[in-house]
Amino acid sequence: MSKIKLATVWLDGCAGCHMSLLDIDESLAAVAGKADIVYGPLVDAQEFPEGVDVTLVEGAVSSQDDLKKIQVIRKRSRLVVALGDCAVTSNVSAMRNTIPVRKLLDRVYLKGVQSQPGIPNDGVPALLKHAVPVHEVVKVDLHVPGCPPPAATILSVVAELLEGRKPDLGTKAKFG
Ligand code: SF4
Repeated sequence: MSKIKLATVWLDGCAGCHMSLLDIDESLAAVAGKADIVYGPLVDAQEFPEGVDVTLVEGAVSSQDDLKKIQVIRKRSRLVVALGDCAVTSNVSAMRNTIPVRKLLDRVYLKGVQSQPGIPNDGVPALLKHAVPVHEVVKVDLHVPGCPPPAATILSVVAELLEGRKPDLGTKAKFG
């Protein structure tokens, strides 16, 4: 039987959700027995591939870059899972949403620095007006809340998806 193609994506998040994924420890070997991890911070793929079965998305959509990326990911993924509160609600990534982008950049890069003030624009993706949850820009098949979701919850979600079942989160997942 061919292995499932699994991808993980890091948008505007702190990497905590990926750290929680790694906390499934030795169960990673069992996951690797059933799935090929084809994209994400855990592997060295440069481009998001076609024909991905399951994509776990950490983080909110905060920049033009995030937006383009999640649109490609949606087209190339059978199932998209919003993993963690930033992906589900935008969470801490949205703390900037009440401040206009220009004012925010001025405060951080011009008024808030001791030397060499300047707003970076070379290779730095432009921010969207607001950081938004993933489901605001593309269809999401499953929301897994938590900041981060516990490793056991992530493992049970991944295990169910690898078996072709839709996970019943019940009381396993909660915000915060
Ligand atoms: S949900 Fe929490 S752990 Fe995950 S990326 Fe956001 S802040 Fe980090």
